Amino acid sequence: MSDAYSSSLEIRLSDGPGAPPGPEVLTGPLEPDEQPRLWAALALVNADLAATRPDRAPLELRRYDWSDGGRQIKVATADGESYGPAVWQRGWSGDAAELLADPLELLALVADAAQQTVLESGRQVWPLCPAHALGLHASGVAGSWHCSAGGGHVVAPVGGPARG
Ligand SMILES: [Zn+2]
Repeated sequence: MSDAYSSSLEIRLSDGPGAPPGPEVLTGPLEPDEQPRLWAALALVNADLAATRPDRAPLELRRYDWSDGGRQIKVATADGESYGPAVWQRGWSGDAAELLADPLELLALVADAAQQTVLESGRQVWPLCPAHALGLHASGVAGSWHCSAGGGHVVAPVGGPARG
């Protein structure tokens, strides 16, 4: 792709006819003392990542602040790439969403977001079931990685000692 082509493409994407200018977003790392429950959940997921994918840097929490008042927190790579759903957000009306009250549900949400970020940023299915070599999921069986193969089975608690 030539420079001329890529710059004209950018203009079309950002200044399409009739498209109102969107709100601007400022993003950066979430401070370590903000949302300690999210950091605690991510620490468990990062323990699994370190045990099974030592080549990958620990995941981080990142904030996205929109100029119109919205804020989201997402799980991101150390390079700032994020693909999963927001694990917390504040609505555009300014209403702050509460974190999920159930710590296991919150852990499953963070684990799912981490999993999608690992998948999309490295094209790696993670974590894998050691018995079936299929991707595990943390939602559905709160607090544990589970595999849907063989009728479904729990593989390990998120952040637990038995890791695939
Ligand atoms: Zn399995």
